[in-house]
Amino acid sequence: MPKPLVAIVGRPNVGKSMLFNKLTGRRAAIVEDTPGVTRDRIYGDCDWNGREFELVDTGGIEPNTDSEMLQFMRRQAELAIAAADVIVMVTDVKTGVTAADQDVANMLLRSRKPVCLAVNKCDSVGPTNPDVYEFYALGLGDPIEVSAVHGHGTGDLLDWCVAHFPAPSEQEDEGEVINVAIIGKPNVGKSSLLNRILGQERVIVSNVAGTTRDAIDSYFENEFGKYRFIDTAGMRRKSKVDDAIEKYSNLRSIAAIERADVCLILIDAVEGVTEQDTKIAGLAHEAGKASIIVVNKWDLVDKDTNTMAEKTAEIRRDLSYLTYAPIIFLSALTGQRVGKLYERINAVANQSAMRITTGMLNSILEDATARVQPPTDKGRRLKIYYMTQVGVKPPHFVIFCNDARLFHFSYQRYLENQLRGVFGLEGTPIRLTIRQKG
Ligand code: GDP
Repeated sequence: MPKPLVAIVGRPNVGKSMLFNKLTGRRAAIVEDTPGVTRDRIYGDCDWNGREFELVDTGGIEPNTDSEMLQFMRRQAELAIAAADVIVMVTDVKTGVTAADQDVANMLLRSRKPVCLAVNKCDSVGPTNPDVYEFYALGLGDPIEVSAVHGHGTGDLLDWCVAHFPAPSEQEDEGEVINVAIIGKPNVGKSSLLNRILGQERVIVSNVAGTTRDAIDSYFENEFGKYRFIDTAGMRRKSKVDDAIEKYSNLRSIAAIERADVCLILIDAVEGVTEQDTKIAGLAHEAGKASIIVVNKWDLVDKDTNTMAEKTAEIRRDLSYLTYAPIIFLSALTGQRVGKLYERINAVANQSAMRITTGMLNSILEDATARVQPPTDKGRRLKIYYMTQVGVKPPHFVIFCNDARLFHFSYQRYLENQLRGVFGLEGTPIRLTIRQKG
């Protein structure tokens, strides 16, 4: 089970860095909250009453000028919203509520994530500092008075965070059932494959509420796991009308992909990859879904010992952006290798939900940049500061650097390959976001 992630956001000078150090229980090299000072540590493992979590200071790199400030803070908040289970917004009792605080608070509110409002620099113990009341105006609920310098209030803050972590059982349940979409052009064998699979299992079908065309999902459990095959509108009850509609629309594929954890991209073994296949596969790729390339109608192909290798090379060439997707050759008609799908589905679903610790990522980054130097342009070299994972399904990484323009696609590709070399990440696309220091 992944550790919950807590993100700290807030204006420069409010004491984020010091609070971060207090919470992680370590002293950082630089604790002054001077705008523009690059802090060297932005993530840390924490433990509060036996509950482990990761703490990220999204404000690790701050802009030098006021004009960039608001944009910077929005970016920081976006990152926190995308990544965190709980967000701690830090404010400063000495300066009171600023317009930037209000702006960020509004963004955080809209995200519906649990947000804890910490009012820092409440250094004296005793009755509530009257200056704290104005922070109610942010609409984030009861402010928690803290002093990052002395540490008081931090226990309340941690209690609040832990109380708002997702329940462990909820997290597990979510991961249990794998939603699978079978996608592909008309007549590639989608219905046949679905019927072949469902024919072997004890299936529970259920109507999907809220869809215009009455989609029917099929749920079953077998020795490999729990699966929900998403019906791409009437696949189980196939009619000529459905076929005709399908010819004019990728809509049903799009709707199915949206709801899927894993896409089975069907290709006709005899025809090979067509333009329409490329488009449909592209939808799964763009949506960031884990995929398996399923070459169907394998029974129709005259085979010798090289056929599979040749077909594989052909598909890799034609679907070059899907290099991460495993290929399986099967026949919906005869059932050959259909039973092998489950282990593959489990594997790619797991890979797309993988979480890699920031420590691990940065040691790989260090290795990779030592082996192949980052690019330079006109004497300026790309400097990569650190990397952190902000999301799963698909794994999403943010890399902070000195100059995004120097971060050429080829070097991104190189880093992606290094990550895949170490962690596999088979079957899943990954997202890299490059962020430039202000
Ligand atoms: P869909 O439009 O993608 O749902 O495709 P269908 O499942 O309706 O299949 C289209 C045609 O291909 C039908 O005539 C199927 O019998 C045939 N077909 C599907 N899978 C296979 C296969 O593995 N081998 C062979 N030989 N025919 C297949």
